[in-house]
Amino acid sequence: MLATKRIRVVRIESIMSSNAVSAAEGVSGAGQPVDFGFSNTYARLPDRFFSRINPKPVAAPRLIKLNVALALQLGLDPQALQSEEGVQILAGNRVARGSEPLAIAYAGHQFGHFVPQLGDGRANLLGEVVARNDLRYDIQLKGSGPTPFSRRGDGRAALGPVLREYLVSEAMAALGVPTTRTLAAVATGEAVLRESALPGAVLTRVAASHLRVGTFEYFAARRDTEGVRVLAAYAMARHYPEAATAERPYRALLEAVVSAQAHLVAQWMLLGFIHGVMNTDNTSISGETIDYGPCAFMEAYDVETVFSSIDSQRRYAYGNQPRIALWNLTRLAEALLPLLEEETGSETAARTAAEEALSTFAPLHDAAQMAGWRRKLGLTTERDGDVGLVQDLLDRMGANRVDMTLFFRRLCDAAAGNEGDVVAGALFAEPAAYDSWAALWRERLAEESSTTEERVAAMKRANPVYIPRNHMVEAALTAATERQDFETFERLLDVVTHPFEERPGGEAYAVPAQPEERVRWTFCGT
Ligand code: AMP
Ligand code: MG
Repeated sequence: MLATKRIRVVRIESIMSSNAVSAAEGVSGAGQPVDFGFSNTYARLPDRFFSRINPKPVAAPRLIKLNVALALQLGLDPQALQSEEGVQILAGNRVARGSEPLAIAYAGHQFGHFVPQLGDGRANLLGEVVARNDLRYDIQLKGSGPTPFSRRGDGRAALGPVLREYLVSEAMAALGVPTTRTLAAVATGEAVLRESALPGAVLTRVAASHLRVGTFEYFAARRDTEGVRVLAAYAMARHYPEAATAERPYRALLEAVVSAQAHLVAQWMLLGFIHGVMNTDNTSISGETIDYGPCAFMEAYDVETVFSSIDSQRRYAYGNQPRIALWNLTRLAEALLPLLEEETGSETAARTAAEEALSTFAPLHDAAQMAGWRRKLGLTTERDGDVGLVQDLLDRMGANRVDMTLFFRRLCDAAAGNEGDVVAGALFAEPAAYDSWAALWRERLAEESSTTEERVAAMKRANPVYIPRNHMVEAALTAATERQDFETFERLLDVVTHPFEERPGGEAYAVPAQPEERVRWTFCGT
């Protein structure tokens, strides 16, 4: 108790509620039609948190796609964003009124190795907006030119990876997974040099914030406890206000992030989503999926699935993701140790507090996953045998290389009547493996009180028809980059952003790749 008296939790609420913006006037002066209504808080943090830097203009900006629905949710005017001035802003050629562009400092463990300084090497936070839902969002340009954090990189992004992030992040949002969003993609009219010259693009990313585990590590690695303190207060004010008033705020913050990540990764697992680069700099404090690089959705169920060409150790395989999330959260706990020590009164007590907070991950994650599997199987009640029923199914799916998404959707038909069993079972190399499991499933369903109609409807809301399948994504990216054909991208985007709605003529989007279409590796594209 005595120890808590010494805790200083910096109060950030005043910053959060202020609308005072020390506006860096737009270069074109007043009277722009584009009004983001920026109300910036990160720019009010100490100077060492970021580097103030404007996006670097590009040669010939051309709007590829504006996310009109998202613009409206953010309270932005889609018409204005599509105007010439709007596109200039989204390309980084013009600084909007009230924007205070900056590159955020952060560190991170990349594939297990600590890098004390990473930071936004190709991104500029333009500012923050308060959306129609009263929540605050970062508006960030990605691929907007070099910053002091660029190291050897060019600060740019290629069109392919930009479109991949657009497709996958918007699909994830439509699937109900916490994620950063994509407001726009703009072609730069410039080439970026990778293994070959590729068309360049800038993506506008919208995030609850860009706070990462790596942001905490940045200050912790410098023994800058004051920096960690300010960052923790900022994180609480922005994402977990209840932690700030808890008896032990820093422990409450850690627990809140642990919980958010436990739930997030559970959703990935239920969809077969593989992030691909779960480094601590790509682990968000808000619990959003962030940094879509070599991400991919698994088709045939296999816990060892890896797509990322750079993940040679298979560290970020599908089945490893929960373990890796906990590993990343342990790095966050370490960064918070000095504050936990103030809060608990001793180093030992701080370690115990950290361990206790981290130990909540597994039960939270397992419960979230099980709740999700139950929904996918049409179960509304809980029985002891459910875990075994699910594990048995997953084992059989693995052994039979069953397409995960298609199977669960077909299971909705099997729930409607036994006739559906044939199509569901046909996905198994050995259909009998399905039949014997389905018999157990039906016995279990008999204990449910929901009607068949209710069950089928609920299952169809839990089991998407469409995910961004890798070969479809690849085809859309190739058409865009090699043929300037954006129709393929548009169609795929439309399908994957309505993932639960079966559409006539959409069969090709719902089935796994043929062997010759199969994508084996995905690339970061940085
Ligand atoms: P990522 O793999 O996108 O999570 O990025 C890891 C780190 O590398 C971050 O600090 C990025 O800002 C930086 N980075 C990635 N690509 C580039 C690039 N083309 N130019 C400069 N920095 C980059
Ligand atoms: Mg990153």
